[in-house]
Amino acid sequence: MGVVTVAWNANAAPRRYDGHAIVRIEAPQPEEIAALVSAGAVILGDRPGPDSVHLRVPPQAKAMLAATAAVAETLVADVQPGLDAERARLALVGPVTHGASFFDDFRDLAAINAHLDALAAAHPGITEIVSVGTSLEGRPIRGIAIRAGAADGPSLLLTGTMHAREWLSTMTVTCLADTLISEHGADPAITTALDAVGIIVVPVLNPDGYVYSWEAERYWRKNRRDGVGVDLNRNFPFEWGGEGSSGIPEEENYRGTAPASEPEAAALMAFILAQDTLVAHVDYHSYGQLLLYPWGYTSTPTRDAAEFQALAEAQVDAMAAVHGRQYLPLQGSELYLAAGVADDWAYADAGLMAFVPELRPDFEGPGDFVVDPSNIRGTCEETLAGVLVLAEWASEGLEPPDTTGADDTDTTGQGTESGPTDSTGESTSSNADTTGAVTTSADNSFPGGEAGGPPGDSSEGDGTGGSGGATEDEGCSCTTEPRRGPWLLMLAMLGLLRRRRALTLRQ
Ligand SMILES: [Zn+2]
Repeated sequence: MGVVTVAWNANAAPRRYDGHAIVRIEAPQPEEIAALVSAGAVILGDRPGPDSVHLRVPPQAKAMLAATAAVAETLVADVQPGLDAERARLALVGPVTHGASFFDDFRDLAAINAHLDALAAAHPGITEIVSVGTSLEGRPIRGIAIRAGAADGPSLLLTGTMHAREWLSTMTVTCLADTLISEHGADPAITTALDAVGIIVVPVLNPDGYVYSWEAERYWRKNRRDGVGVDLNRNFPFEWGGEGSSGIPEEENYRGTAPASEPEAAALMAFILAQDTLVAHVDYHSYGQLLLYPWGYTSTPTRDAAEFQALAEAQVDAMAAVHGRQYLPLQGSELYLAAGVADDWAYADAGLMAFVPELRPDFEGPGDFVVDPSNIRGTCEETLAGVLVLAEWASEGLEPPDTTGADDTDTTGQGTESGPTDSTGESTSSNADTTGAVTTSADNSFPGGEAGGPPGDSSEGDGTGGSGGATEDEGCSCTTEPRRGPWLLMLAMLGLLRRRRALTLRQ
Protein backbone atom coordinates (compact mmCIF):
# COMPACT_ATOMS: atom_id res chain seq x y z
CA MET A 1 0.00 0.00 0.00
CA GLY A 2 1.44 3.29 -1.00
CA VAL A 3 1.64 6.20 1.28
CA VAL A 4 -1.73 7.77 1.66
CA THR A 5 -1.39 11.47 1.52
CA VAL A 6 -3.93 13.26 3.59
CA ALA A 7 -4.38 16.78 2.44
CA TRP A 8 -7.28 18.81 3.52
CA ASN A 9 -8.59 20.58 0.52
CA ALA A 10 -10.22 23.77 1.65
CA ASN A 11 -11.79 24.10 -1.75
CA ALA A 12 -13.69 20.84 -1.55
CA ALA A 13 -17.39 21.14 -1.12
CA PRO A 14 -18.36 19.47 2.12
CA ARG A 15 -21.86 18.41 2.92
CA ARG A 16 -24.01 21.24 4.18
CA TYR A 17 -26.44 21.10 7.09
CA ASP A 18 -28.50 24.17 6.37
CA GLY A 19 -31.44 24.53 8.67
CA HIS A 20 -30.44 21.67 10.92
CA ALA A 21 -31.20 22.63 14.49
CA ILE A 22 -29.80 21.32 17.73
CA VAL A 23 -32.52 20.71 20.26
CA ARG A 24 -32.53 19.37 23.76
CA ILE A 25 -35.34 17.09 24.83
CA GLU A 26 -36.00 16.77 28.51
CA ALA A 27 -36.89 13.44 30.08
CA PRO A 28 -36.75 11.73 26.73
CA GLN A 29 -39.06 8.83 26.03
CA PRO A 30 -37.37 6.14 23.94
CA GLU A 31 -40.32 5.90 21.54
CA GLU A 32 -40.27 9.60 20.85
CA ILE A 33 -36.56 9.60 20.25
CA ALA A 34 -36.86 6.60 17.97
CA ALA A 35 -39.57 8.31 15.96
CA LEU A 36 -37.51 11.43 15.56
CA VAL A 37 -34.46 9.43 14.54
CA SER A 38 -36.49 7.58 11.94
CA ALA A 39 -37.53 10.96 10.60
CA GLY A 40 -33.92 11.96 10.15
CA ALA A 41 -32.90 13.39 13.50
CA VAL A 42 -29.52 12.33 14.83
CA ILE A 43 -28.56 11.88 18.46
CA LEU A 44 -25.62 14.08 19.36
CA GLY A 45 -23.17 12.91 21.89
CA ASP A 46 -22.46 9.23 21.88
CA ARG A 47 -25.55 8.33 23.80
CA PRO A 48 -28.51 10.16 25.22
CA GLY A 49 -27.68 11.96 28.42
CA PRO A 50 -29.08 10.92 31.74
CA ASP A 51 -31.87 13.47 31.80
CA SER A 52 -31.90 14.93 28.35
CA VAL A 53 -30.97 14.21 24.77
CA HIS A 54 -29.42 16.50 22.21
CA LEU A 55 -30.67 15.92 18.70
CA ARG A 56 -29.61 17.41 15.41
CA VAL A 57 -32.91 17.86 13.65
CA PRO A 58 -33.04 18.40 9.90
CA PRO A 59 -35.72 20.70 8.50
CA GLN A 60 -37.98 17.86 7.41
CA ALA A 61 -38.17 16.48 10.94
CA LYS A 62 -39.05 19.73 12.65
CA ALA A 63 -42.76 19.24 12.13
CA MET A 64 -42.60 15.92 13.93
CA LEU A 65 -40.68 17.54 16.71
CA ALA A 66 -43.48 20.02 17.20
CA ALA A 67 -45.99 17.20 17.35
CA THR A 68 -44.28 15.19 20.05
CA ALA A 69 -45.15 15.54 23.65
CA ALA A 70 -41.52 16.02 24.52
CA VAL A 71 -40.38 19.28 25.93
CA ALA A 72 -37.85 20.48 23.47
CA GLU A 73 -35.62 23.48 23.63
CA THR A 74 -33.88 24.76 20.55
CA LEU A 75 -30.25 25.32 21.43
CA VAL A 76 -28.96 26.16 17.98
CA ALA A 77 -31.42 27.13 15.26
CA ASP A 78 -29.07 26.35 12.39
CA VAL A 79 -25.74 24.58 12.70
CA GLN A 80 -24.40 25.56 9.30
CA PRO A 81 -23.04 29.01 10.24
CA GLY A 82 -21.00 27.38 13.02
CA LEU A 83 -19.61 24.83 10.59
CA ASP A 84 -18.76 27.56 8.13
CA ALA A 85 -16.98 29.50 10.84
CA GLU A 86 -15.00 26.47 11.95
CA ARG A 87 -13.98 25.66 8.40
CA ALA A 88 -13.00 29.21 7.63
CA ARG A 89 -10.97 29.44 10.80
CA LEU A 90 -9.14 26.18 10.12
CA ALA A 91 -8.45 27.20 6.54
CA LEU A 92 -6.48 30.12 7.87
CA VAL A 93 -4.23 28.03 10.06
CA GLY A 94 -1.40 27.80 7.57
CA PRO A 95 1.58 25.54 8.19
CA VAL A 96 1.19 23.89 11.55
CA THR A 97 4.07 24.25 13.90
CA HIS A 98 4.64 21.91 16.77
CA GLY A 99 5.33 24.50 19.37
CA ALA A 100 3.09 25.91 22.02
CA SER A 101 0.43 26.91 19.53
CA PHE A 102 -0.31 23.38 18.42
CA PHE A 103 -3.25 23.07 20.78
CA ASP A 104 -4.73 26.43 19.87
CA ASP A 105 -7.03 24.73 17.42
CA PHE A 106 -8.06 21.41 15.91
CA ARG A 107 -5.57 19.63 13.67
CA ASP A 108 -6.00 17.24 10.79
CA LEU A 109 -4.60 13.72 10.61
CA ALA A 110 -1.35 14.72 8.94
CA ALA A 111 -0.66 17.28 11.64
CA ILE A 112 -1.48 14.86 14.44
CA ASN A 113 0.88 12.26 13.01
CA ALA A 114 3.59 14.84 12.49
CA HIS A 115 3.16 15.94 16.06
CA LEU A 116 3.69 12.41 17.31
CA ASP A 117 6.86 12.25 15.25
CA ALA A 118 8.05 15.56 16.64
CA LEU A 119 7.46 14.38 20.20
CA ALA A 120 9.30 11.13 19.58
CA ALA A 121 12.22 12.93 17.97
CA ALA A 122 12.52 15.41 20.81
CA HIS A 123 12.29 12.80 23.57
CA PRO A 124 13.87 9.63 22.20
CA GLY A 125 14.81 8.30 25.61
CA ILE A 126 11.30 7.77 26.85
CA THR A 127 9.19 7.46 23.72
CA GLU A 128 8.66 5.18 20.80
CA ILE A 129 6.29 5.41 17.86
CA VAL A 130 4.04 2.37 17.77
CA SER A 131 1.89 0.97 15.02
CA VAL A 132 -1.53 -0.33 15.97
CA GLY A 133 -2.42 -1.42 12.47
CA THR A 134 -3.89 -0.17 9.24
CA SER A 135 -7.30 1.22 8.42
CA LEU A 136 -9.65 0.00 5.75
CA GLU A 137 -8.35 2.61 3.30
CA GLY A 138 -4.74 1.87 4.15
CA ARG A 139 -3.93 4.62 6.59
CA PRO A 140 -1.63 3.74 9.48
CA ILE A 141 -3.11 3.82 12.97
CA ARG A 142 -0.26 5.26 14.96
CA GLY A 143 0.53 5.88 18.57
CA ILE A 144 3.33 6.82 20.89
CA ALA A 145 4.47 4.71 23.79
CA ILE A 146 5.91 6.51 26.79
CA ARG A 147 8.05 4.49 29.13
CA ALA A 148 10.42 6.08 31.62
CA GLY A 149 10.54 3.31 34.19
CA ALA A 150 10.92 -0.44 34.21
CA ALA A 151 9.98 -2.15 30.99
CA ASP A 152 7.77 -4.63 32.78
CA GLY A 153 5.91 -2.09 34.85
CA PRO A 154 2.16 -1.72 34.42
CA SER A 155 0.89 0.39 31.57
CA LEU A 156 -2.18 2.32 30.50
CA LEU A 157 -3.61 2.69 27.02
CA LEU A 158 -5.24 6.00 26.07
CA THR A 159 -7.09 6.15 22.75
CA GLY A 160 -9.13 8.70 20.85
CA THR A 161 -11.17 9.29 17.72
CA MET A 162 -12.92 5.97 17.41
CA HIS A 163 -15.75 8.21 16.24
CA ALA A 164 -14.66 10.52 13.47
CA ARG A 165 -16.52 13.70 14.38
CA GLU A 166 -15.36 13.79 18.00
CA TRP A 167 -12.48 16.10 17.30
CA LEU A 168 -12.07 17.15 20.90
CA SER A 169 -11.05 13.59 21.73
CA THR A 170 -8.36 13.71 19.02
CA MET A 171 -6.84 16.86 20.43
CA THR A 172 -7.23 15.89 24.06
CA VAL A 173 -5.48 12.58 23.65
CA THR A 174 -2.69 14.14 21.60
CA CYS A 175 -2.33 16.83 24.24
CA LEU A 176 -2.14 14.21 26.98
CA ALA A 177 0.79 12.60 25.17
CA ASP A 178 2.44 15.96 24.67
CA THR A 179 2.05 17.02 28.28
CA LEU A 180 3.15 13.73 29.78
CA ILE A 181 6.25 13.59 27.59
CA SER A 182 7.18 17.25 27.86
CA GLU A 183 6.68 17.48 31.60
CA HIS A 184 8.52 14.32 32.54
CA GLY A 185 11.38 15.46 34.70
CA ALA A 186 9.77 18.82 35.35
CA ASP A 187 6.34 18.20 36.84
CA PRO A 188 6.64 16.08 40.00
CA ALA A 189 3.31 14.27 39.66
CA ILE A 190 3.88 13.44 36.02
CA THR A 191 7.44 12.33 36.69
CA THR A 192 6.33 10.05 39.50
CA ALA A 193 3.60 8.58 37.33
CA LEU A 194 5.78 7.93 34.33
CA ASP A 195 8.60 6.48 36.35
CA ALA A 196 6.19 3.81 37.54
CA VAL A 197 3.73 3.36 34.71
CA GLY A 198 4.03 3.12 30.95
CA ILE A 199 1.46 5.02 28.93
CA ILE A 200 0.60 4.29 25.31
CA VAL A 201 -1.31 6.98 23.47
CA VAL A 202 -3.19 6.47 20.20
CA PRO A 203 -4.93 9.68 19.16
CA VAL A 204 -6.80 8.49 16.06
CA LEU A 205 -8.26 4.99 15.98
CA ASN A 206 -10.43 5.79 12.97
CA PRO A 207 -8.18 7.69 10.57
CA ASP A 208 -10.37 7.19 7.48
CA GLY A 209 -13.41 8.58 9.23
CA TYR A 210 -11.42 11.42 10.72
CA VAL A 211 -10.13 12.52 7.35
CA TYR A 212 -13.63 12.23 5.94
CA SER A 213 -15.04 14.36 8.72
CA TRP A 214 -12.56 17.08 7.80
CA GLU A 215 -13.02 16.87 4.08
CA ALA A 216 -16.59 15.93 3.43
CA GLU A 217 -19.01 15.47 6.34
CA ARG A 218 -18.34 17.18 9.62
CA TYR A 219 -20.85 14.95 11.42
CA TRP A 220 -19.40 11.66 10.15
CA ARG A 221 -19.13 9.11 12.98
CA LYS A 222 -18.27 5.69 11.58
CA ASN A 223 -15.41 4.26 9.57
CA ARG A 224 -15.68 4.32 5.76
CA ARG A 225 -16.81 0.78 4.97
CA ASP A 226 -18.63 0.78 1.63
CA GLY A 227 -19.33 4.46 1.89
CA VAL A 228 -21.89 3.97 4.66
CA GLY A 229 -19.51 3.00 7.42
CA VAL A 230 -19.54 0.74 10.44
CA ASP A 231 -19.75 2.09 13.96
CA LEU A 232 -16.47 0.77 15.32
CA ASN A 233 -17.82 1.05 18.81
CA ARG A 234 -20.46 -1.57 18.09
CA ASN A 235 -18.12 -3.90 16.20
CA PHE A 236 -16.25 -5.54 19.08
CA PRO A 237 -16.88 -9.25 19.60
CA PHE A 238 -18.02 -9.31 23.17
CA GLU A 239 -21.83 -9.48 23.07
CA TRP A 240 -21.73 -8.28 19.49
CA GLY A 241 -25.15 -7.93 17.94
CA GLY A 242 -27.11 -7.13 21.05
CA GLU A 243 -29.41 -4.31 21.90
CA GLY A 244 -28.16 -0.81 21.24
CA SER A 245 -26.50 -1.76 17.99
CA SER A 246 -28.08 -1.81 14.57
CA GLY A 247 -28.03 -4.27 11.70
CA ILE A 248 -28.98 -1.53 9.25
CA PRO A 249 -25.92 -0.13 7.47
CA GLU A 250 -27.29 3.39 7.14
CA GLU A 251 -27.79 3.80 10.87
CA GLU A 252 -25.26 5.55 13.07
CA ASN A 253 -24.74 2.54 15.32
CA TYR A 254 -24.44 -0.05 12.57
CA ARG A 255 -22.50 -2.95 14.01
CA GLY A 256 -21.07 -4.39 10.77
CA THR A 257 -21.58 -7.81 9.28
CA ALA A 258 -19.64 -9.78 11.86
CA PRO A 259 -17.75 -9.32 15.12
CA ALA A 260 -14.48 -7.49 14.52
CA SER A 261 -15.24 -7.29 10.82
CA GLU A 262 -13.56 -3.89 10.68
CA PRO A 263 -9.78 -3.67 10.47
CA GLU A 264 -9.67 -0.74 12.87
CA ALA A 265 -11.42 -2.73 15.61
CA ALA A 266 -9.45 -5.90 14.92
CA ALA A 267 -6.19 -3.95 14.99
CA LEU A 268 -6.97 -2.43 18.36
CA MET A 269 -7.86 -5.84 19.78
CA ALA A 270 -4.67 -7.46 18.55
CA PHE A 271 -2.64 -4.54 19.81
CA ILE A 272 -4.19 -4.71 23.27
CA LEU A 273 -3.74 -8.45 23.54
CA ALA A 274 -0.10 -8.13 22.55
CA GLN A 275 0.66 -5.76 25.44
CA ASP A 276 1.15 -7.90 28.48
CA THR A 277 1.68 -5.01 30.85
CA LEU A 278 -1.61 -3.25 30.18
CA VAL A 279 -3.93 -2.84 33.13
CA ALA A 280 -6.38 -0.22 31.88
CA HIS A 281 -7.78 1.23 28.68
CA VAL A 282 -9.29 4.69 28.50
CA ASP A 283 -11.12 5.42 25.25
CA TYR A 284 -11.92 9.12 24.93
CA HIS A 285 -15.12 10.17 23.21
CA SER A 286 -17.29 13.26 23.16
CA TYR A 287 -19.51 14.53 24.50
CA GLY A 288 -21.55 14.79 27.69
CA GLN A 289 -19.06 15.09 30.58
CA LEU A 290 -19.53 11.52 31.62
CA LEU A 291 -17.15 8.82 32.75
CA LEU A 292 -18.58 5.49 31.66
CA TYR A 293 -17.50 1.98 32.49
CA PRO A 294 -18.80 -1.50 31.60
CA TRP A 295 -21.23 -2.93 31.03
CA GLY A 296 -22.70 -1.25 28.01
CA TYR A 297 -24.65 -4.26 26.77
CA THR A 298 -26.65 -5.01 29.89
CA SER A 299 -27.94 -3.13 32.86
CA THR A 300 -26.60 -5.85 35.14
CA PRO A 301 -23.55 -4.61 37.01
CA THR A 302 -20.17 -6.15 36.44
CA ARG A 303 -18.62 -8.22 39.13
CA ASP A 304 -16.20 -5.34 39.60
CA ALA A 305 -18.85 -2.64 39.74
CA ALA A 306 -17.76 -1.32 43.11
CA GLU A 307 -14.17 -1.02 41.99
CA PHE A 308 -15.19 0.65 38.75
CA GLN A 309 -17.36 3.16 40.53
CA ALA A 310 -14.76 3.94 43.17
CA LEU A 311 -12.01 4.38 40.63
CA ALA A 312 -14.28 6.48 38.43
CA GLU A 313 -15.21 8.69 41.36
CA ALA A 314 -11.55 9.19 42.20
CA GLN A 315 -10.95 10.29 38.63
CA VAL A 316 -13.88 12.66 38.34
CA ASP A 317 -13.07 14.26 41.69
CA ALA A 318 -9.54 14.94 40.53
CA MET A 319 -10.82 16.21 37.19
CA ALA A 320 -13.34 18.57 38.78
CA ALA A 321 -10.63 20.05 40.96
CA VAL A 322 -8.84 21.40 37.88
CA HIS A 323 -11.46 23.60 36.22
CA GLY A 324 -14.63 22.85 38.11
CA ARG A 325 -16.03 20.67 35.34
CA GLN A 326 -18.07 17.86 36.83
CA TYR A 327 -18.06 14.56 35.00
CA LEU A 328 -20.69 12.02 35.94
CA PRO A 329 -19.38 8.51 36.64
CA LEU A 330 -21.70 5.64 35.84
CA GLN A 331 -22.12 2.29 34.19
CA GLY A 332 -22.59 2.92 30.48
CA SER A 333 -25.83 0.99 30.23
CA GLU A 334 -27.48 3.27 32.75
CA LEU A 335 -27.84 5.71 29.89
CA TYR A 336 -28.60 3.41 27.04
CA LEU A 337 -27.78 -0.15 26.14
CA ALA A 338 -24.93 -0.44 23.68
CA ALA A 339 -23.64 -3.85 22.64
CA GLY A 340 -20.31 -4.58 21.00
CA VAL A 341 -18.57 -1.61 22.57
CA ALA A 342 -14.84 -1.48 23.02
CA ASP A 343 -14.89 -1.04 26.77
CA ASP A 344 -17.00 -4.14 27.35
CA TRP A 345 -14.58 -6.11 25.22
CA ALA A 346 -11.47 -4.67 26.89
CA TYR A 347 -12.84 -5.55 30.29
CA ALA A 348 -14.35 -8.92 29.52
CA ASP A 349 -11.90 -10.38 27.07
CA ALA A 350 -8.67 -8.53 27.78
CA GLY A 351 -9.07 -8.23 31.52
CA LEU A 352 -8.54 -4.48 31.63
CA MET A 353 -10.21 -1.84 33.66
CA ALA A 354 -11.91 0.12 30.91
CA PHE A 355 -13.26 3.65 30.97
CA VAL A 356 -14.94 5.87 28.42
CA PRO A 357 -14.76 9.55 29.21
CA GLU A 358 -17.30 11.57 27.26
CA LEU A 359 -15.56 14.92 27.10
CA ARG A 360 -16.94 18.46 27.10
CA PRO A 361 -19.52 19.85 26.98
CA ASP A 362 -22.25 18.54 29.23
CA PHE A 363 -25.89 18.29 28.25
CA GLU A 364 -27.00 21.41 30.09
CA GLY A 365 -26.03 24.08 27.62
CA PRO A 366 -25.67 24.01 23.88
CA GLY A 367 -23.76 20.92 22.94
CA ASP A 368 -22.13 19.71 19.81
CA PHE A 369 -19.07 18.03 18.42
CA VAL A 370 -18.21 21.42 17.05
CA VAL A 371 -16.79 23.23 20.04
CA ASP A 372 -14.70 26.28 20.55
CA PRO A 373 -11.01 25.37 20.39
CA SER A 374 -10.46 27.12 23.69
CA ASN A 375 -11.79 23.89 25.21
CA ILE A 376 -8.79 21.88 24.07
CA ARG A 377 -6.31 22.89 26.73
CA GLY A 378 -8.81 22.87 29.57
CA THR A 379 -10.08 19.45 28.63
CA CYS A 380 -6.53 18.20 28.37
CA GLU A 381 -5.69 19.56 31.81
CA GLU A 382 -8.68 18.04 33.54
CA THR A 383 -8.36 14.67 31.84
CA LEU A 384 -4.68 14.61 32.77
CA ALA A 385 -5.75 14.68 36.41
CA GLY A 386 -7.82 11.57 35.76
CA VAL A 387 -4.90 9.84 34.06
CA LEU A 388 -2.68 10.55 37.04
CA VAL A 389 -5.24 8.94 39.33
CA LEU A 390 -5.23 5.86 37.15
CA ALA A 391 -1.43 5.86 37.06
CA GLU A 392 -1.28 5.98 40.82
CA TRP A 393 -3.76 3.17 41.07
CA ALA A 394 -1.76 1.15 38.56
CA SER A 395 1.59 1.87 40.13
CA GLU A 396 0.77 0.34 43.49
CA GLY A 397 2.62 3.28 44.88
CA LEU A 398 0.57 3.08 48.01
CA GLU A 399 0.72 0.26 50.43
CA PRO A 400 -2.48 -1.68 50.62
CA PRO A 401 -4.42 -0.95 53.75
CA ASP A 402 -4.39 -3.32 56.63
CA THR A 403 -7.38 -5.43 56.22
CA THR A 404 -8.66 -6.81 59.38
CA GLY A 405 -8.55 -10.45 58.59
CA ALA A 406 -12.22 -10.67 57.94
CA ASP A 407 -11.82 -8.78 54.77
CA ASP A 408 -12.92 -10.89 51.92
CA THR A 409 -10.58 -9.53 49.35
CA ASP A 410 -8.01 -12.22 49.76
CA THR A 411 -10.06 -15.30 50.04
CA THR A 412 -11.53 -15.98 46.68
CA GLY A 413 -8.76 -18.22 45.68
CA GLN A 414 -10.43 -20.04 42.97
CA GLY A 415 -10.00 -19.57 39.39
CA THR A 416 -13.49 -19.09 38.21
CA GLU A 417 -13.03 -15.73 36.69
CA SER A 418 -16.66 -15.19 37.18
CA GLY A 419 -16.85 -12.67 34.47
CA PRO A 420 -19.29 -12.74 31.71
CA THR A 421 -20.34 -16.29 31.34
CA ASP A 422 -22.90 -16.44 28.71
CA SER A 423 -25.46 -19.04 28.02
CA THR A 424 -23.13 -21.04 25.88
CA GLY A 425 -21.44 -22.02 29.03
CA GLU A 426 -18.13 -20.71 27.96
CA SER A 427 -16.54 -18.27 30.23
CA THR A 428 -16.00 -15.55 27.76
CA SER A 429 -13.94 -13.62 30.16
CA SER A 430 -11.21 -15.96 31.10
CA ASN A 431 -8.44 -13.50 30.89
CA ALA A 432 -6.07 -16.23 31.67
CA ASP A 433 -6.59 -18.25 28.60
CA THR A 434 -7.53 -15.89 25.86
CA THR A 435 -4.73 -13.46 26.01
CA GLY A 436 -2.85 -15.11 23.27
CA ALA A 437 -5.03 -14.38 20.34
CA VAL A 438 -7.92 -12.50 18.98
CA THR A 439 -10.24 -15.37 19.41
CA THR A 440 -12.83 -13.93 21.59
CA SER A 441 -15.73 -13.97 19.27
CA ALA A 442 -15.80 -17.68 18.85
CA ASP A 443 -16.95 -18.14 22.38
CA ASN A 444 -20.05 -16.13 22.04
CA SER A 445 -23.05 -17.38 20.27
CA PHE A 446 -24.37 -14.28 18.68
CA PRO A 447 -26.53 -12.49 18.88
CA GLY A 448 -26.38 -12.48 22.58
CA GLY A 449 -29.61 -10.71 23.05
CA GLU A 450 -31.17 -10.82 26.41
CA ALA A 451 -30.05 -14.33 27.07
CA GLY A 452 -26.43 -13.41 27.21
CA GLY A 453 -25.68 -14.24 30.74
CA PRO A 454 -24.70 -11.42 32.94
CA PRO A 455 -21.75 -11.98 35.15
CA GLY A 456 -22.23 -13.83 38.34
CA ASP A 457 -22.19 -10.65 40.26
CA SER A 458 -24.84 -11.60 42.68
CA SER A 459 -23.25 -14.73 43.88
CA GLU A 460 -20.08 -13.96 45.58
CA GLY A 461 -19.86 -11.60 48.39
CA ASP A 462 -16.22 -11.33 47.70
CA GLY A 463 -16.90 -10.11 44.27
CA THR A 464 -13.32 -9.31 43.68
CA GLY A 465 -13.08 -11.91 41.06
CA GLY A 466 -9.48 -12.45 41.60
CA SER A 467 -8.79 -15.83 40.45
CA GLY A 468 -5.45 -16.93 41.56
CA GLY A 469 -4.05 -14.23 43.66
CA ALA A 470 -3.84 -16.70 46.44
CA THR A 471 -0.31 -15.73 47.10
CA GLU A 472 -1.17 -12.13 47.70
CA ASP A 473 0.49 -10.86 50.79
CA GLU A 474 -1.72 -11.59 53.63
CA GLY A 475 -1.81 -8.17 55.15
CA CYS A 476 -1.00 -8.38 58.78
CA SER A 477 -3.82 -6.96 60.78
CA CYS A 478 -1.63 -6.10 63.67
CA THR A 479 -0.76 -2.49 63.17
CA THR A 480 -2.70 0.64 63.00
CA GLU A 481 -1.91 2.49 59.85
CA PRO A 482 -1.11 6.12 60.04
CA ARG A 483 -4.16 8.07 59.19
CA ARG A 484 -4.71 8.73 55.54
CA GLY A 485 -7.42 10.53 53.74
CA PRO A 486 -10.23 8.29 52.61
CA TRP A 487 -9.34 9.02 49.04
CA LEU A 488 -5.81 7.72 49.42
CA LEU A 489 -7.03 4.76 51.35
CA MET A 490 -9.45 3.92 48.62
CA LEU A 491 -6.74 4.15 45.97
CA ALA A 492 -4.61 1.84 48.03
CA MET A 493 -7.38 -0.70 48.18
CA LEU A 494 -7.89 -0.41 44.48
CA GLY A 495 -4.19 -0.95 43.96
CA LEU A 496 -4.52 -4.23 45.78
CA LEU A 497 -7.34 -5.25 43.50
CA ARG A 498 -5.31 -4.27 40.49
CA ARG A 499 -2.50 -6.55 41.57
CA ARG A 500 -4.92 -9.42 41.80
CA ARG A 501 -6.13 -8.68 38.31
CA ALA A 502 -2.58 -8.57 37.00
CA LEU A 503 -1.88 -11.94 38.50
CA THR A 504 -4.95 -13.30 36.82
CA LEU A 505 -3.84 -11.94 33.50
CA ARG A 506 -0.48 -13.56 33.65
CA GLN A 507 -1.60 -17.01 34.51
ZN1 LIG B 1 -17.86 8.48 20.41
